[in-house]
Formats: sequence, structure tokens, C-alpha cells
Amino acid sequence: MTELLVTGGQVLRPDMTVERADVLVDQDDGEILAVESPGELAGDDELDAGDGLVVPGLVNAHTHVAMTLLRGYADDKPLDAWLQEDIWPVEGELTPEDVRVGAELGLVEMVKSGTTALSDMYFHVEEIAAAVEQAGVRAALGHTAVTVGKDEEGARDDVRQSLETARDLDGAADGRISTTFQPHSLTTVGERYLREYVPEANAAELPVHLHANETTDEVTPIVDEHGLRPLEYADDVGLLAEDSFLAHCVHVDETEIDLLAETGTGVAHCPASNMKLASGMAPVQRLLDAGVTVGIGTDGAASNNDLDMFDEMRDAAMIGKLAADDASAVAAETVVEMATENGAELLGIDSGRIEPGANADLAVLSLDSPHLTPAHDLVSHLAYAATGSDVRHTVCDGEVLMRDRDVTVFDEEAVRERAQAHADAVVDRASN
Ligand SMILES: [Zn+2]
Repeated sequence: MTELLVTGGQVLRPDMTVERADVLVDQDDGEILAVESPGELAGDDELDAGDGLVVPGLVNAHTHVAMTLLRGYADDKPLDAWLQEDIWPVEGELTPEDVRVGAELGLVEMVKSGTTALSDMYFHVEEIAAAVEQAGVRAALGHTAVTVGKDEEGARDDVRQSLETARDLDGAADGRISTTFQPHSLTTVGERYLREYVPEANAAELPVHLHANETTDEVTPIVDEHGLRPLEYADDVGLLAEDSFLAHCVHVDETEIDLLAETGTGVAHCPASNMKLASGMAPVQRLLDAGVTVGIGTDGAASNNDLDMFDEMRDAAMIGKLAADDASAVAAETVVEMATENGAELLGIDSGRIEPGANADLAVLSLDSPHLTPAHDLVSHLAYAATGSDVRHTVCDGEVLMRDRDVTVFDEEAVRERAQAHADAVVDRASN
């Protein structure tokens, strides 16, 4: 057994207290063995957390990691126009290799900002899986199916591919990869396909991950066509279940919030994307009060425009207060829990807490910056003042993915150069 000692730091415990402690990690099993007072533990190797803060690795509960190639390509438009005029035409040109390069860039960004797990929706998923395997992080992956605008055969192929990808990739990368069945949304996948394939996904016990109630444009057509709120319709076709989670849920009413709570369906809240696309304010405090598990996601880099979960925690707290018209809503401790434990719960992984027996997924932040001084309350700093660039080390599954800001799993400069070249080429192809 090889043991790594994370030493000299303060540790954020599951009850949101902070104490001086060393953390001993079993690198073979990728598990936390012990959290003890300084000086009581010894390991084969040490990771210096001196004067830093050891926190659980952050969980990005909804993203499209390969969309880093489209960062800054199109901004300042509402969702529908942005997708149809800008994003989908370029995405149509993305080759498997582009997706690989974009995923690598996104994963480097995540490792550098303390994220150790992500839930991703995209296509050419085998390329994303290969990048995740190399990055050393955990991921819930899947092929996202869209049936609108396709003929019968094309539509069926796409949904079947989502089922097959979820079956085939589950457990890859030594178990770090899990999978979800992914209808894109309630308006982009036709009812007949949902009625046909969702029961198959449920029978195979595949969790479901889809976009829901992101904008009012997604709500109105469903109410008009079915006479039901979107999540009543989702429940009717079998999409709401424990282990499953919905991205966004901005426009949900009380009936829908109750349905989420009753069925145990989770929510991946994406505050920056919701603000940037002017989609609206999700009722996060009401969801939490109803007992819904709410995690936090960055969404894709094209609508954010970064994958920094520290930004996202701050955004979640700010917009959560505004939505509730209450400054005490979505408090600092709450957003830290959302970005760690709750995200881990959505992904079905035993991470998100620094405790013996949990997965050894953690990040160490440097605290010696002006913007983190003075240290009245480190949980407040995590939610409101820290940024991804404060992360000094990142560890996942017991492996050190970044040590002293040096990413060990990728050649960072080469990844950036490849990403720039591929991004230029794909935009070129799309505009010709
Ligand atoms: Zn999304």
C-alpha cells in the first residue's frame, strides 16, 4: 500500500468546521484512511498543504467539457438564437479529434481549479472518456440524443446510441467513469422516442441526465401540447427517478418542486449560464427547503465562459439570494455543500467529504493572498472570495493531478496550443 500524507494544512470537515489536521490517503485504493491532528500520521510521500486549506474536490454537476473550443465564440444572445445561429452550426463541424482536444483543455482547466468530478453531456463520447482517463478525474458521461430535425431512422439511431454508450462506458477508467442516459431536453426529443426508450433505460437502471425548464420557451410548448407542466410530463414518461438529475430547473412551479422531492430527482443548478443567457433565476432555496438535492454546474464554456467552480459557488449564492429576495438564502455553507457533497450525491460517488472511507478526491488552496486575508471565516472565503487559481494541489482517486500548480497528467502548454489550432480550424470550416 502506498500512502500519501497531506500535511500542514487546515481541513474542511463534513460539518463545515475547519481544523488543523493531516490527511492520510491510500493511493492504491484511492481512499482517505485517516484525518488526525498534525504530527500523528506518516506516509510514503507527502503533499505540503502548509498554511493552506484542504477541501473536498469540487463536483461540476453539469457541463459540456469539450465546448471549451467555443469559449468566447458567440456571446450576448438569448438561448434559442445563440444555439441556432452560432453554436449548432459550429458543433456540426466538430470532429472526434476536436472533441478530444476540447475535452483535454477543459479538463486541464478543471484540474487547475480543484474540480475532481464532472457530469458531462455531449457526443463523440469515447474521446471525452479517453481524455478523462488521462486526466485522472471522475466523470459521469453520456451521448446526448436529439430527435428534432431528424428523420425516423436518424432519430432512433441517436437515442439508441445514448443507451448503448451508457451501457458500454460504465465503469471505464478503473471505475472512475460512470454513465447516464441523455435525452437532450423535453422539447428536443420527441414524445414517442421518450415513451419507447425511457423504459429501456429504467430497466437497465441507467440514471438520466437532461436539460429541463431552462427557459420559458421550453415550458410553454409543453403546457400547450400536453396540458401538463414540463416536469409532470417528464414524470409521465418515466424520466423522474432517484439517481436521475435535471440541469437548470429555472422555471419550476410548486407542483414541480414537490414532484422532484417525491421522486428523489436531483437538480444541477447552472447560475452563470442562466444569468448570461438571461434564462431566469432558479428557485434554489425553495428546492433545497423541499428536500431536493441540488448540485452546481458550470454548463459549457460557451455560456459561462469558464469552468471555475469557485466562480460558480459565488454566482449560486448571489442569484439564489436575489431569486428568494432574501440575503440569508443560499448561504456560504450551503453553496459549498452543493459544490461538494450534493454534486457527489448526484453523480453517485462517495466523494465530496474529507473523512476516512471517502474517496481521496481533494484540493488544497493557498490562503496567503490579499483577497483571502484576513481569515475570519474560511467557508465564507470558499464561497465568496476564492478563485480557481488559488488551488495549489489537486488529488483524485489518491493520485496527485496537480502539484504546486504544475499539472502532472497533461502537458498544459501543448494542450493549449492544440486547442487554439483546432478551435481556429473548426470556426474556419463553419464559416465556409
Ligand atoms: Zn447544458
